[in-house]
Amino acid sequence: MNFLEERILKDGIVKEGNVLKVDSFLNHQMDIELFDQMGAEFKKRFEGKPINKILTIEASGIGIACVVAQHFHVPVVFAKKSKSINLEGEMYVAQVESFTHKCQNNVIVAQKFLNPEDHVLIIDDFLANGCALQGLIQIVQSAGATVEGIGIAIEKGFQSGGRIIRNLGFQLESLAIVESMDAETGNVVFREQ
Ligand code: 5GP
Repeated sequence: MNFLEERILKDGIVKEGNVLKVDSFLNHQMDIELFDQMGAEFKKRFEGKPINKILTIEASGIGIACVVAQHFHVPVVFAKKSKSINLEGEMYVAQVESFTHKCQNNVIVAQKFLNPEDHVLIIDDFLANGCALQGLIQIVQSAGATVEGIGIAIEKGFQSGGRIIRNLGFQLESLAIVESMDAETGNVVFREQ
């Protein structure tokens, strides 16, 4: 069992509706030492890739992406969520359905921050159905840039996102893959990696 799996067992809370709450260390209060370990692990897993930029999505992805970026020595761009369709300036836009909030968001990145020379590592906290990731991939591709890989803290392996993204041929690295979880018992089972 790795450091993140251990932490999930210690502090994660399984909620009804297939939601894993990790707000004491990942997406409300943030354990920066843990993020740093995640950064070191992603650096290992994406060794040799010509990554020059990290892309994430607000809000929970930003903290992780910033700490991970210190291992890659590259800037972080975060996609903004916007309800408005009246977008100013030159933007890449993708539509994303939110798993946790059950709503549609436009996700936007200013064109000046992504260009065809960019080799992008996408980072996010969770992977569930893959909508957020597909939006980010679409934005990178609209810019003519290259997705070098995708790093996720926690993948919920019983939802479809991981399979969809791997079938598209991307190198998707999830530090913890939850195979099953039970809100009644609080049990969490991880996939062997
Ligand atoms: P997806 O687009 O893959 O369906 O969902 C990914 C997004 O939903 C993540 O960026 C994350 O913010 C949120 N999310 C999905 N499942 C969970 C969960 O079980 N717990 C928490 N805290 N966030 C989740």
